[in-house]
Amino acid sequence: MNYFNSKLNFFHGVMFHHFHDDKLHLKGQGSISKETLVNIINFVGRENIIDADDFYHRYKENELTNKNVCLTFDDGIKCQSDIAIPVLEDFKIKAFFFIYTSLFDNEPDYLEVYRYFRLNFFKSIDDFYKYFYNLLGVDLENFFSNKKDLITSIKYKYNYYSIEDIKFRLVRDLYLHKEDYKNLMLEMFEKKKFIPSEIFNKIFFNAQTLNDIYKLGHKIGMHSHTHPTLIEKLEFEEQLKEYNVNKKKLSEILNIDNKEIKYMSHPCGSYNKNTLEILNSLNIEIGFKNIINVEKSKGMKKVNNSNLEIARYDHALIVNKMN
Ligand SMILES: [Zn+2]
Repeated sequence: MNYFNSKLNFFHGVMFHHFHDDKLHLKGQGSISKETLVNIINFVGRENIIDADDFYHRYKENELTNKNVCLTFDDGIKCQSDIAIPVLEDFKIKAFFFIYTSLFDNEPDYLEVYRYFRLNFFKSIDDFYKYFYNLLGVDLENFFSNKKDLITSIKYKYNYYSIEDIKFRLVRDLYLHKEDYKNLMLEMFEKKKFIPSEIFNKIFFNAQTLNDIYKLGHKIGMHSHTHPTLIEKLEFEEQLKEYNVNKKKLSEILNIDNKEIKYMSHPCGSYNKNTLEILNSLNIEIGFKNIINVEKSKGMKKVNNSNLEIARYDHALIVNKMN
């Protein structure tokens, strides 16, 4: 099977998140091994993958072809520097790394901490869900049946999530208030005697990691400061703060002029008109979505609708195509 086909015939980024080596980094939902990364690069075609810098310049000059692909890595997670960077070096590929900055203040996005917790303290994801729902102690049958259509549409958009994954996300993001969810998770941590701060260094970049990656020639871009799940729900001022702080901190950590921070990806693919206005005012020149779909609800008219709405294809979808 070919990577490019009638549904995928436009320039885009490939989006990576998690990698496993079954030593430091355990296998989890959507994670891939070093070997799979190599296979993905070969399947996409090394000749089609261009460096981040090149992708940016060609975009600016309107010279990207339908087969130009760049590689992108979100969230500053350590498995990327431990496992993916050596592969990129072997292939001599320079990628984009999109980084939220609260992690450098020892206040990382807990999504990542939760993931570590699930993988290291439970036999399986279903084992975790069972424990979670038990602790929550609420009958969710009505909630789920009211959300039937939503579940179907999310499944259509993110085919690689199981129905149970989607249900859990709805409980987390819609049924519970953010604080309630966090408190519930903290309660689980206590019950399992898990102390998050002890593993930050194991799962996140630190300032040194980021500098090392930058010096290798990879491009560092924004991904908000605190990585809100739905930044589009935040007021203009709050969104502005998210990206302002993010830009300032990245340039401070890298000790570069903040004009060099001109790329970004939308955390969880979330944005609205305000977000785009803010990013333009911060002189961000290219921004990536987390899907390739044309989202009419966001006012998109076509794929790669604007400089801040460039499509990305999830590596999980590529793995499905390869198999
Ligand atoms: Zn992210």
